[in-house]
Amino acid sequence: MKTIIEPFRIKSVEPIRMTERPERTKLLEEAGLNLFLLNADDVIIDLLTDSGTSSMSAMQWAAIMKGDESYAGSRSYHEFEQEVRNLTGFEFVIPVHQGRAAEKILFTVLDRPNSPNSANAVYLGNTHFDTTRANIEFTGAKAFDLPIPEGLVPAKRHPFKGNIDLVRLEAGLKEHSDNVRAVILTVTNNSGGGQPVSMANIRAASELAKSHGVLFVLDSCRFAENAYFIQQREPGFADKSVFEIAQEMFSYADATTMSAKKDGLANIGGFLALNNSELAMASRNLLILTEGFPTYGGLAGRDLEAVAQGLREVVDEDYLRYRVRSVEYLADKLEGGEVPLILPAGGHAVYLDAGGFLPHIPPSQFPGQVLANELYLHGGVRGVEIGSVMFGKTDETGAHVGPPMELVRLAIPRRVYTQSHVDFVAEVVLEVFARREELRGLEMTYQAPYLRHFTARFRSI
Ligand SMILES: *Cc1c(COP(=O)(O)O)cnc(C)c1O
Repeated sequence: MKTIIEPFRIKSVEPIRMTERPERTKLLEEAGLNLFLLNADDVIIDLLTDSGTSSMSAMQWAAIMKGDESYAGSRSYHEFEQEVRNLTGFEFVIPVHQGRAAEKILFTVLDRPNSPNSANAVYLGNTHFDTTRANIEFTGAKAFDLPIPEGLVPAKRHPFKGNIDLVRLEAGLKEHSDNVRAVILTVTNNSGGGQPVSMANIRAASELAKSHGVLFVLDSCRFAENAYFIQQREPGFADKSVFEIAQEMFSYADATTMSAKKDGLANIGGFLALNNSELAMASRNLLILTEGFPTYGGLAGRDLEAVAQGLREVVDEDYLRYRVRSVEYLADKLEGGEVPLILPAGGHAVYLDAGGFLPHIPPSQFPGQVLANELYLHGGVRGVEIGSVMFGKTDETGAHVGPPMELVRLAIPRRVYTQSHVDFVAEVVLEVFARREELRGLEMTYQAPYLRHFTARFRSI
């Protein structure tokens, strides 16, 4: 059959409150024109993130009931540890409440504040995710994004557009030699469009890092979606299972940070996993300071159970076929209407090219934010800006320095929305596209020093 169906029945539902434009206009004004400051009840289709928004399965809810809430050495921890070990092959499995806690711990442990060149510490990656970059910069280090050139051209198709540029990686490793703290490959490359990284690229990046004595880290939030793309697109992998492919991906890494709120199919949780016993010990000591005892790391036993079961379910190939197709389905509809977007579709999201959508609004007036806001006003659809609001800076002369792309991400929560919800989203985007010339820029009236997009406020120009 040509039609790929949702491979599940819906057993429990959450009603959606319907709203109209005048109400949404008032709500968005009150939120300082920042979609992060809206109440979720005031959103019809919430595509802000695929993080922590998955529907859990009946098996996960059942697993939650057997959660062991002991402080130390709980059965749930051992189950979780075993599942993560099976998948990743790493010996030391450190649970955390979500991905950024793993980042904070790892980068703190890798930071050597008293070493002579500590001010020159750098991280090299395909594209650092916002929390990854912020946690790196918080230690005083710099994060350099080295995507392949195709990765920065929205309309350019490439099967592995999330790859790191190996030539620039090698040059970076040579240039910064002793100061490179780690090479981080994000799979799939979230900030670069949810695009996959090929096995060949992972292997080559790993070899380069190792030959320079540098730690090689996978940011593995979407390892299963990445592994599925490898199975579908990379020669030599068609006959391997997604689980085997994922195991091979992890085999090239020295450590992984994982937000289980994505491909863990859980609403909270994550882990840091690695093989180096000294780094593991230092990480556990920090974990105790900030997250909790090493056998729960800021989670309840039931959360560990939900993640362990989620990791088993996410590599199911019927699930992944539906997952990747449902995202591509939205991209196909928008591409049919000539809406500028990143092609091909990412694994977890469709990324609108706000720069191409609103060429009359300069980056300094936040075209991505303008577009995201209009999708909400027009249809109650909430996406997220990934552009000058999230990554833009002001230089010494007061001029705006934007990132390479101005994007709006429409992230699809896992197992949550049906095909008619997706049809509705496409209709909203196409209608906004038809009257794009009417939209006007924004100015920022408040910003915080870190991760400003979460709390910024805006005014129409
Ligand atoms: C979500 C995410 C993180 C951070 O995880 P949280 O669970 O949100 O703290 C890190 N890297 C990538 C690529 C992500 O998508």
